[in-house]
Amino acid sequence: MYAPDTEVRLLRTDGTISQDVFVVEEDKNAGDVRLVRKDTIVRDDKSGKIISGTRIIANAQRVFPEDIIHKAPVIDLNTESVAHCPTCHERHTVNPEDFSITCSKHGVFELYRTKEQVRRAKRPATEKSTKSKDKEVKHTTTATEAAPAQATAQVNLDEIKAMGELWVKRLKFDYSHIDARGYALLIEIDGTLYKHCFNTYNGTMGKKASDNDLSKLRSTNGAYKVADAQKARDQLAAKGYTKVD
Ligand SMILES: [Zn+2]
Repeated sequence: MYAPDTEVRLLRTDGTISQDVFVVEEDKNAGDVRLVRKDTIVRDDKSGKIISGTRIIANAQRVFPEDIIHKAPVIDLNTESVAHCPTCHERHTVNPEDFSITCSKHGVFELYRTKEQVRRAKRPATEKSTKSKDKEVKHTTTATEAAPAQATAQVNLDEIKAMGELWVKRLKFDYSHIDARGYALLIEIDGTLYKHCFNTYNGTMGKKASDNDLSKLRSTNGAYKVADAQKARDQLAAKGYTKVD
């Protein structure tokens, strides 16, 4: 649960994350949290206590840390788990072993799971927690975590580099066994310069073979038009990218 004064955002029912930031006032019973809209807060000068502001009661399942904004929170529904692209809100079904979703338009987004969801995902649904089976559970967990890395073929970076100018940076990622990298490819298509962005996770673009199809990088689909090549390079460098030699 969240400590009082934690800054949070709300996941709305359409899968979008609130632009508004809320502050936790108190945890209610039955999984509800009382929140105050940050921009409406007035505090007592002496105690710092919130004395007025717009309050709402939110379901704790829909309350996320403030920095959630670029991730895709996992929502558990009755029969399945889903996550939405943070940009266009396209809905994806999520399996327990998944660590990202791939939006057809906006690329790969890291999933965000609450501690409780991580705990549940690691325990097979049929497993009863008896002492003798504890070791089995541990073993299953390891296998599940290793699975995404081995599921697909490695992306051929030499082939991508030959298409144009490739830039890379390491991405901060919650799963320590996943090496996440963000790439930007500056590529000339029909005489115009474009920028394609994609991520790799342990060297793969996704779990399906089609996710690793490089022909999409030769298409203007999903690419940004670059008006000024030098400006684009400067922006990449400012964002922490380095050119791949
Ligand atoms: Zn999208």
